[in-house]
Amino acid sequence: MITVSLQGYGFFVCMKAIETKETSTSNDSPARIREVLARALDLEILSLTEVSALIALRDQAMWEEVFNASAMVKEKVYGKRVVLFAPLYLSNECMNNCLYCGFRRGNQEAKRKTLSIEEAVAEASILSSRGYKRLLLVTGELAGAVNYLEGVIDAIYKRTDIRILHVNSAPMGLNEFKRLKASGAGVYQCFQETYHIPTYRVMHPSGPKADYYWRLNVMDRAIDAGFEDVGMGVLLGLHDWRWDAFALIAHAHRLVEKYGFGPHTISVPRLQPAQGAELKEAPYAVSDSDFKKTVAIYRLALPYVGVVVSTREPAYLRDELLLIGASQISAGSRTSPAGYMEGGDTEQFEIGDRRNLEEVVGKIASMGLLPSFCTACYREGRSGDTFRHLAEDGGIKNLCQINAILSLKEYVEDYAPEELKLLLERRIKEEALKTGNGLFEKLQQIEKGKRDIHV
Ligand code: SAM
Ligand code: SF4
Repeated sequence: MITVSLQGYGFFVCMKAIETKETSTSNDSPARIREVLARALDLEILSLTEVSALIALRDQAMWEEVFNASAMVKEKVYGKRVVLFAPLYLSNECMNNCLYCGFRRGNQEAKRKTLSIEEAVAEASILSSRGYKRLLLVTGELAGAVNYLEGVIDAIYKRTDIRILHVNSAPMGLNEFKRLKASGAGVYQCFQETYHIPTYRVMHPSGPKADYYWRLNVMDRAIDAGFEDVGMGVLLGLHDWRWDAFALIAHAHRLVEKYGFGPHTISVPRLQPAQGAELKEAPYAVSDSDFKKTVAIYRLALPYVGVVVSTREPAYLRDELLLIGASQISAGSRTSPAGYMEGGDTEQFEIGDRRNLEEVVGKIASMGLLPSFCTACYREGRSGDTFRHLAEDGGIKNLCQINAILSLKEYVEDYAPEELKLLLERRIKEEALKTGNGLFEKLQQIEKGKRDIHV
């Protein structure tokens, strides 16, 4: 039995045992599941009852149908493009003590470092020289973080070719969010970790993060401050994945009801071993098979939302996920401050996919997909409900396709190693032929040196 209640600006999700027995066998019959999939294929946001039918599904053969539908929804919304980015870890200092994290305050072994603005620019320049245009700035919880972030963001925009910076930092107050937005940050991202209050309390024993509701309402504050693009997630492994995935989707629904749009992205971080973490194993370990189901459920439940898979996951699984619903991936990541310059000490967690950017780009292209370095939507004001409606009407797909081709062409001209160029040029040509829209002229302009052409 699932109960969701919304109380004013507070938000409570109470899900009593989403166990096989209790989530009725009648609502996950093949006929019912196919009805739900048909609605998702019409790019409708699924109701919570429909989501619960997917979550309760146990029939493996039906799951194959779900994965196929999820792949089709992804293709309908985004076409073949896969957006690439890298995290830039600014600081591993932190006021909190999350039991699962290597950066937690109580970790005496950690070598602490907060990058100076010069060092942050140096890290961003290294990434820029490899071809990245989009970075995610990540920090532990620091006092006065917004002052620091403003300085870093301003310097990276002014002094490197990075075109968009997203931020994953601890929750802030309304005024701080206004300043962060004004500094030019794209997406503000923050994971609830778990919606299950008793588990949340155990996992976050001290520091500002111990306040469940301060974190729960962070998306409202960020949106009220002007962030139309927010990124959400739960840390898979802390509590039953079915429970938390459902709660996250319920939370997203609440944002849609209140603002007319939900999250821009949902990430699927899965708990990894971390040096110095107090938690030695996941209380609710999530298998690869359940991880795939989570990605598909997010994709179907909220068709227009970007699903982000990080390098926490191994290469083989990430490749598979690209075919069933993931639309954005990080590549070549380091998860410690100065990690790109020096290798860095104290990684936040163990990385599962150690391929570099070139290898990931090559793999995506060889799978018949399109690696994309596009950053156009954030800079063209296509955010919030504008983005949602464009995506639901199939309009984002065309823009994404064109921008993916153009940004990949820039990558070929400026950064790709010789051995990759042939494959990428072939993919560009194949996709450009299908796309039309005077694309070949634009590709020629890029060959002649014009940059940042986008629609
Ligand atoms: N300090 C901020 C916070 O906690 O919101 C933002 C940065 S934190 C480094 C980013 C995310 O990393 C966390 O929200 C958490 O979900 C994830 N994380 C922490 N420890 C992890 C681990 N051991 N394995 C996988 N992900 C982890
Ligand atoms: Fe700090 Fe974030 Fe790690 Fe928690 S997850 S210890 S808040 S860096």
